[in-house]
Amino acid sequence: MITIQNYINGELVAPKSGNYLDNFNPAIGKVYSKIPDSDEQDITAAQKAAEAAKDLWAKTSKQERSDIMMRIADLIEKNHHELAKAESIDNGKPLKLASSVDIPRASSNMRFFATAILHWASESHDMDGKFINYTLRKPIGVVGCISPWNLPLYLFTWKIAPALASGNCVVAKPSEITPMTAYLFSKLCIEAGLPKGVLNIVHGLGAKVGNAITDNDGIKAISFTGGTTTGKIIASKAAPKFKKLSLELGGKNPNIIFADCDFDKALKTTMLSSFANQGQICLCGSRIFVERPIYEKFRDAFVEKTNQLTVGDPNDPNTRIGAIVSKDHKEKILSYIELAKKEGGTILTGGHEVSLEGEFAEGYYVRPTIIEGLSYSCRTNQEEIFGPVVTIMPFDTEEEVLMYANSTEYGLAATVWTENVRKANRMAAKIDSGIVWVNCWLVRDLRTPFGGMKSSGVGREGGFNAFNFFTEPTNVCLSL
Ligand code: NAD
Repeated sequence: MITIQNYINGELVAPKSGNYLDNFNPAIGKVYSKIPDSDEQDITAAQKAAEAAKDLWAKTSKQERSDIMMRIADLIEKNHHELAKAESIDNGKPLKLASSVDIPRASSNMRFFATAILHWASESHDMDGKFINYTLRKPIGVVGCISPWNLPLYLFTWKIAPALASGNCVVAKPSEITPMTAYLFSKLCIEAGLPKGVLNIVHGLGAKVGNAITDNDGIKAISFTGGTTTGKIIASKAAPKFKKLSLELGGKNPNIIFADCDFDKALKTTMLSSFANQGQICLCGSRIFVERPIYEKFRDAFVEKTNQLTVGDPNDPNTRIGAIVSKDHKEKILSYIELAKKEGGTILTGGHEVSLEGEFAEGYYVRPTIIEGLSYSCRTNQEEIFGPVVTIMPFDTEEEVLMYANSTEYGLAATVWTENVRKANRMAAKIDSGIVWVNCWLVRDLRTPFGGMKSSGVGREGGFNAFNFFTEPTNVCLSL
């Protein structure tokens, strides 16, 4: 059984308490590794190591920082298969998905920010030749990065890469539910020669380790991705300390499908945006609004295709839907299906867990589920479920569907399907969300602003936005 260790001051170390937690393989429902049950003492040690390293790392040339990060990216690629397999075992996602999305995108994150820093420039403002302002951007020092379980290494690297590239030292906490690839990543950092203390990875529970990051006065900024409830806790604790915060939170994203769409493309992509990664991507579209003239045709084709999805062994290349990440999360998803029934919804397909045979008998599986007949305002349509469960509803006008789309507390992402370019632009401008995909989904250009509005988050990451977050500007005004 693998025993995961913390990565502090350049070394793999046991938690100060000496205690470990169980780490489950969700495909078989069994413990397969141990994870440090770290606490405040480990965060203090990590923060001290980062503090000791910060001046040297900030002074290290951008090119040198970039070179080290590129070496880490190379090592991710070299260990692609091992990392993909580890991600699939830890999370329950199909190996095929981990192999084609999670791990390649993790190395892309490292490469992107390692090279972006070489092209980043700060502003200057000329005042009619009499004065000139220029803006220095200095690293903050020691920052915290806290990431979730749904895209473990992908989102972990998305947070730490811009922090490191812009000259900060990091205390990072991956999700306790999926710690394995962050642990393997710490070994790659050692192999790549990342100086000690620059990145520290502390494993354990959110209420202990995450909370200690929020509380630690030496950690000056926090980049967090996770649930809205956790975001609220972090914000309420960090605000009186005036910590900089970037919060990437939950969503309840609408898919708006007009009758004049490219039907086959809309259907094919809706399958992915509904059920990829068992519906556990913050950008998945969980409310599907279809214009009435094609409603029945779309609904029937969508149900038929969903019936064909294979749920099962994440290792099998034919599996489309792997295991739900944990038993608790499976129970949460099932409870929402019960709620939908109570609210008057009709289950068109799915609606239940799946019991597999043999070694997978204790695993956590839920059949992809489509629910019809619910009001846009019911709880099922307002609250984030974060599983392979979507609702489908007809609409008649643009105004009506906009009202539905914007009716939740969330505002992360949306898709719009139409061949009418003016209508697409009109809708994109009126939907309250940080990202709108027109006739596509999950296409990512890492230069663009990424994040949500309303309860989906505060601030934007991506491209130079992330460098602006991880640096403090000083404006210098000079008399000429
Ligand atoms: P979560 O909020 O439970 O946990 C996220 C991280 O926060 C974990 O590392 C956890 O240990 C830590 N944490 C928990 N309690 C904490 C506390 N009190 N203080 C500090 N840290 C704490 O979220 P999750 O269940 O891991 O992830 C699913 C959620 O993440 C969903 O809501 C999903 O929409 C959201 N998400 C958002 C984005 C985005 O980019 N907006 C991306 C992926 C996931």
